[in-house]
Amino acid sequence: MTLLDRIDGKRDDLIALTQDLIRIPTLNPPGENYAAICDYLKVRLAARGFDCRLVRAHGAPGDSDRYPRWNIVALREGTRAGDCVHFNSHTDVVEVGHGWTRDPFGGDLVDDKIFGRGACDMKGGLAASIIAAEAFIEEHPDFAGAIEISGTADEESGGYGGVAYLAEQGFFDPARVQHVIIPEPLNKDRICLGHRGGWWAEIETKGEIAHGSMPFLGDCAVRHMGAVLQAFEDRLYPAMATRHTEMPVVPEGARQSTMNINAIHGGQPEQDPDYTGLPAHCVPDSCRITIDRRFLIEETVEGVAAEVVALLEDLKATRPRFDYEIRELNRVIPSMTDRDAPVVKTVAAAMREVMGQDPAYVASPGSYDQKHIDRIGKLKNCIAYGPGVLELAHKPDEWIGVTDMLDSAKVMGRALERLLLL
Ligand SMILES: [Zn+2]
Repeated sequence: MTLLDRIDGKRDDLIALTQDLIRIPTLNPPGENYAAICDYLKVRLAARGFDCRLVRAHGAPGDSDRYPRWNIVALREGTRAGDCVHFNSHTDVVEVGHGWTRDPFGGDLVDDKIFGRGACDMKGGLAASIIAAEAFIEEHPDFAGAIEISGTADEESGGYGGVAYLAEQGFFDPARVQHVIIPEPLNKDRICLGHRGGWWAEIETKGEIAHGSMPFLGDCAVRHMGAVLQAFEDRLYPAMATRHTEMPVVPEGARQSTMNINAIHGGQPEQDPDYTGLPAHCVPDSCRITIDRRFLIEETVEGVAAEVVALLEDLKATRPRFDYEIRELNRVIPSMTDRDAPVVKTVAAAMREVMGQDPAYVASPGSYDQKHIDRIGKLKNCIAYGPGVLELAHKPDEWIGVTDMLDSAKVMGRALERLLLL
């Protein structure tokens, strides 16, 4: 039997595994059932000779006794020295949201599709990597090196209780792990080399409260924020539109710098929907926005922040009574693996064998856990490769294709043969 036949033979096992994973509702936030999914994976992988470690991210954001951030790292050593190939999947899923026609935690199988929250992002990818590893070990019990599979918490909320924590503990030290594949749903015929950076900040403009009938006695913070937004329109957005990246970001619109304004709040707080009274008349003394600036590998986070601060300082110098505060909320560095890195070339060659086509090379407009493996782990030989249609992630009636999982499991399995049969 060949490895690819063996993977085809595991179709029912793959379906059942994916359904089991979907049926453990690992909603994040708040971070539910991480212990349950880690225990499930431990039972499965320990039975196949994996040495399983459960690691709680004590003290990470969100970690508490009620919602502990549990991770699993399962290592299967070969019979000889060699490289370690690590598959990392996040176990958390985002909220269900509206618009479902199926049970989000039911794992319904309809024709070739398995439905459920997390089916595509990314329990299907996790299941495919497990099937690939198990088939490989059965086919080649005397392999060289090691296979490691991790299931990690909190990717959807930044990864600090998951991959970042493990990286800080040394799990992604290049001395112990040489190749990382993250089976995020980037489509089975694409290799994702990395992602853009992100910089999030809150900007507050200041004013002075007064009666709304005499605004000249106060100072309207919302009008000051209007000036900030105008400066963004006049200067920042045009400047960002001229900056293009060499990164193969998809969709194409994200191949430049972008910025979203996530929220704006000023003046009287919003009332409950059942409040029937009229608003009070006040000049707002504070207005706040949250900005979400996505930047390119050709930019620096310091430059991105300084550009916004310079606009605000210009307003302070020219606009009467303008005052502001800015507070950084989070920063993520861009990450981009070389196209000729070993894991990229190996997966590309495996894809040619299994699917008879060259991969498309892409980069993600958002980010995923590669940032922590790169920045904290100092491990550069990392890609995202996995089944699933990216556009389905986080949507109602999310699904994963069984054939897509099998095909990507074959690519992962052939990659293991290329890396660990020396
Ligand atoms: Zn994901």
